[in-house]
Amino acid sequence: MAALQRPKWAYFGGGVRPYGDAMLHVSSEAVVRGLNVFEGIKGYWQPDGTFALLELERHYARLLRSARLLHIPVSETSADYQEACFGLMGALLEPANDMWVRTTLFVTEGHWGEGTVSDLVLTAYQQPKNPPTPVHVGTSTWQRAADLTLPARIKTSTNYQVARLARIEGRARGCQEMVLLNQWGRVAEFTGCALLMVRDGAMISPPPYEGALESITVDIVRELCVSMGIPFERRPIERTELLIADELAMCGTLVEVQRALSVDGQPLPDQAPITTAIAQRYQDAVRGVDPHPAVHMTTLHVAAQNRGVGSLDAAVTPGGLAALHLA
Ligand code: PMP
Repeated sequence: MAALQRPKWAYFGGGVRPYGDAMLHVSSEAVVRGLNVFEGIKGYWQPDGTFALLELERHYARLLRSARLLHIPVSETSADYQEACFGLMGALLEPANDMWVRTTLFVTEGHWGEGTVSDLVLTAYQQPKNPPTPVHVGTSTWQRAADLTLPARIKTSTNYQVARLARIEGRARGCQEMVLLNQWGRVAEFTGCALLMVRDGAMISPPPYEGALESITVDIVRELCVSMGIPFERRPIERTELLIADELAMCGTLVEVQRALSVDGQPLPDQAPITTAIAQRYQDAVRGVDPHPAVHMTTLHVAAQNRGVGSLDAAVTPGGLAALHLA
């Protein structure tokens, strides 16, 4: 696995600031209770030389839903959120790479739900432009928490502790990703992305009530399937179905649509025509090669107030700045 990048800039306290200065106090609820909610967003260079973020509005809406479930007040509007993304991207973008942004609301003040204050923190990482390559996956002995214990619907870091255990388990078994089963022994999803399975020509994904996050990418894939005449179903999936699936794939903002070659060491069929077609259609849509009405891209502009700020200007590479269409 690639080492975590250490970019030059991060966004926190309402502005783009040096990455190394992004700190949380040891007594904050963000640290003591792991209290935060987050979204991972991807941005892609487009054929006309602009850079665009995928499904910004829907990520903001899900961030609000997660915050609401954890009683975290959010002061940032959708426009603030967009400006924060644009500000940091403007500082870090390189023409050679796409970008992944982690947008997190950390609870910096408050105690047991009283006086809760959060800070919007963004960190962004360079992403290669090439589409993902197929992986080997397995089924974890660790389990997805139930809605009454730690709801999967809340995108919060604590939900990823069991994911971390499952990935450690998976590495020892030669698997790059692991399926988490739910309390009923059926498929919830992968540790860090949704699950797509093809059987008898239909694309199937487990619904949120089985312990899956409400995935934006799955919603897009459903629309792509509809427009391509591929039946799409959301229904519970049993573990044995994974082993006899015609095709299996990971699906999410970061992994896009990434095919699995084997489950628990058992090879899947050599050909995966439906996954391959959907993965290609997804790539074409997000990269602006063949836009799709279900795929919403927001074109980046560098906020006027950020231009001319000495440190930020210095961070924008001449090549990168030239490639941006400044609003
Ligand atoms: N499940 C989990 C546990 C995830 O972390 C993600 C990535 N956000 C997903 C599913 C996929 O969600 P999305 O398609 O909205 O990125």
